[in-house]
Amino acid sequence: ALVGAQKIAKKNNGELIIATFNKICIDILKDFKATKIIFPDDNDLEKFHPLKYTNAMEQIVKEEEPNLIIFGHTYEARDWVPRLSARLNIPFLSDAIGFHENNNIIRPFYQGKINAEMSSSKPYIVSFQSGAFKKDNLKTGNTESYAIKINNTLNDNSILLEEPFKESQSSVDLSQAKLIISVGRGIDKEENIMLIKELAKALNAEIGSSRPIVDQGWLEHDRQIGSSGQIVSPKLYFAIGLSGSVQHQVGMKNSENIFVINKDKNAPIFEIADKGAVADLFEIVPKLTEIINNQS
Ligand code: FAD
Repeated sequence: ALVGAQKIAKKNNGELIIATFNKICIDILKDFKATKIIFPDDNDLEKFHPLKYTNAMEQIVKEEEPNLIIFGHTYEARDWVPRLSARLNIPFLSDAIGFHENNNIIRPFYQGKINAEMSSSKPYIVSFQSGAFKKDNLKTGNTESYAIKINNTLNDNSILLEEPFKESQSSVDLSQAKLIISVGRGIDKEENIMLIKELAKALNAEIGSSRPIVDQGWLEHDRQIGSSGQIVSPKLYFAIGLSGSVQHQVGMKNSENIFVINKDKNAPIFEIADKGAVADLFEIVPKLTEIINNQS
């Protein structure tokens, strides 16, 4: 989201104000290029609370009057940003994956089958999917931070917080893998995963997967790549029998090379592929494994 915000600000000769509710983040954020960082001087905001976040951001927006308010499309943002949009009575273009030279926001529709450009009257809110912009493109800087006063008395206790949910620690770290063979629902049956395992062994590659494979219990959750799995950027990502949904693409589209085997030439994964075969994986994968094994 920050890379996107920097790009949009630069393109429009605009200012970029970073707002954070957590003072610990200032130490990280100050090293990135922006006009200023602001943070409410209120320890009560350090723990996520949708109503308090909405209250605080409403006041910040009224004070700073931005044209565009940008969020990362996190689980938390999904919870409270629609409320902010309603409170301020301004549009919220969620789930965006980029922005166009003409300043339109790009957002996928119909399970990623089309990407549409969207525009809105100002001000409006945008949330960018993780992986929408390359982290490597973050512009560094030395940005000053300022405490601001907000009124965060809450008369509404309709939302009570519990302990935050913690993801279990991954035992497989795919983020460092150089070569990943990733399998999707096209593999059809659990016993067919063996074909992918044999190819991965021949290439000395890690195995990744789309979410349905993990949901079926055919591979462990650590292998899932995408918005609710791992984010990877190997030298080669070999996508076999997966369609390339938006949620999957955000986890792998920054791979250096993307090879695809899919029998549907209109599968969205082909849009980001460097090389692809429109073919039946059951014909190609065993032959490929055999050729590689015969060469080594
Ligand atoms: P499908 O979309 O069914 O694609 C299967 C593909 O296999 C098709 O393109 C088909 O042409 C091809 N195929 C079929 N048979 C063959 C064959 N014999 N040979 C070659 N090709 C064949 N998904 C993720 O992957 N990661 C995530 O982190 C993730 N997080 C999500 C979070 C949320 C909140 C939601 C709502 C969804 C999430 N999803 C995630 C699910 C996502 O929306 C898709 O449903 C999923 O990625 C589709 O998986 P797939 O590509 O394996 O299956």
